Parts: sequence; C-alpha cells; structure tokens
Amino acid sequence: MKTPNKGIHHITAISSDVHRNIQFYTQVLGLRFVKKSVNQDDPGTYHLYYGDYAGSPGTILTFFPWAGLQRGRPGTGQSYATAFSVPAGSLPFWQKRLAEFKVTSLPVEKRFADEVLPFFDVDGLRLELIATSESDSRPPAPSREVAADYAIRGFHGATLALTDAKATASVLTESMGYSLVSQDGHRARYAAAGGPGSYVDLLTDPSLPRGLNGAGTVHHIAFRVPDDAAQVAARGVLAKRGLQVSPVIDRAYFKSIYYREPGGVLFEIATDQPGFAIDEPVETLGQRLSLPPHLEPHRAEIEAALPKIN
Ligand code: ZN
Repeated sequence: MKTPNKGIHHITAISSDVHRNIQFYTQVLGLRFVKKSVNQDDPGTYHLYYGDYAGSPGTILTFFPWAGLQRGRPGTGQSYATAFSVPAGSLPFWQKRLAEFKVTSLPVEKRFADEVLPFFDVDGLRLELIATSESDSRPPAPSREVAADYAIRGFHGATLALTDAKATASVLTESMGYSLVSQDGHRARYAAAGGPGSYVDLLTDPSLPRGLNGAGTVHHIAFRVPDDAAQVAARGVLAKRGLQVSPVIDRAYFKSIYYREPGGVLFEIATDQPGFAIDEPVETLGQRLSLPPHLEPHRAEIEAALPKIN
C-alpha cells in the first residue's frame, strides 16, 4: 500500500537574524508573511511562515530564526536545495532583481527541460528559481515588489543530497507514492501527484561534503496528505517497513508525523487540514503572534521574550 502523497507540504529551514530573514523573503522574493508563531518545542524562538496569499500547502517555506547561530554546512544527509516555480521566461527579471539586492546567485543552468537560477539567502540557504514550461496554475501571492507575471507560484521541488540514493528511492517509491520520472548524471527526479510542487530530486554528487545543521540549512521537509485518516494510513505503511515514526503531533495548522529516511534527511508528513486560517482571517494572516492553545495562557511572557518585529 502506498501513501496518498500530494507532494510537498512545507519546508522548514534554519536562519539567524529574524529581521533580515523577513526582509529577504517578503521584499526580495515577494512571498507573503502568512504566519508569525513560535517554535512549539522552543517557545522562546519564532516560527515564521512564508507562502502564497492563503498559505496553501506546497507554497510554505518556514524558518526557525536563532539569533547569532553559526552557519551550517550544506551537504549530504540534507534537503540541499529548495526550488520555487516561476513562469517560463522570467529568469532575466530575477537575475536583475537579485543583483539589485546584492543577492549571491550562480549562472543559469539547464536541468531536464527547465532553466534553473540558483541563489542563496542571507544565511547562505541554497534556493533555486525554476522557470518551467510545465503548466503551473497556482496564483502567486499579491506583491507590491514582484509583478504577477514573474512571481513565485510555490515550490517546484526539493533536492536531497545523499551519499547513496538507493534506500531513499525505495522509501519514496514503495511507501510514499513517488515514481522515478527523469535521470541525468548524479540526479534522479521523482514525482508524486505530478507537476511543480511535487518533485523530489535525489542528488548523489560525490564532491559534496557531509552536511552539518546550522543557519542556512534545511531542518526538515514535509509531504502532504489530505486529512487525518490518510496520515494514519501513511504512518502504518512507514512503520511496517521498519522506519521509526513519531506519534501524530498536533501543530495547530496541520497534524504531523516525523521520521528520518535512510539517507539521513528528516521527513514529515503533514495534513492539508485545518490550515493557517484556523486562528486568524486570511486577510490579516501573519500580523499577530499566533500561539497554539496550550501556550495562549503564557502569551504575555512569550511576547516579552521575543525580538520585536515591525
Ligand atoms: Zn514541519
């Protein structure tokens, strides 16, 4: 039995300075700041969410910002690159924009049928803009900074760097509903529901070092299931093949299970329901500090301990 996987739900990364993080993702990339919350396992730290207007699964990049945290080392055992889908022909706009904001980028490269612009955020997190000729009907977040013709549609996919892809590929294809769709050199592409937002590339580049966690690295990658029942079924499938899967944890905006895939990357499976509008209206998402119900009684002290965000 396979998981009814609909692709990527969210990707969570680690940053240092909270203000530079917000400025980069909202003003430079034009994403919407959809949720200001706290790390439920460390409520003295923010958990920030960026995405499309409604915070739809498949568009959400989240951060744990730890001030002054040392940079990590991108490499194997990590979700190594996070790719956004942008319209075909938009890369010249983005190259100019990234240069204007003094963002470090690499030359555009061809990957399968698409053009890819790799670049790095303020903490060195490896990002990519993939100008795809595939249809991507997801509406972008309205942005004063980035016109809709060029704007990010959501994730294209993620690249996992591995020393050996075999065991990871077997989990993806046998237990997570993924299939191999393309292969080129050290890179193999897998897709779930299909199309941008669902791709996972497995990269076995022998020149990559072992990854170390820290600022500018991905903490985990979450895959989508529609509801609680699908999540429980997915948990059963993964546990049956011997993976150590966490119990279901209520994250307020979704429910989550976690497990480390054999290549070392932390995977999560998250439900599409109930979503980010459960505790504030879509129109004002991200404006107020959102706390899960069990932390609400401690709002005053939590707010006092967090850095101020304007
Ligand atoms: Zn997560």
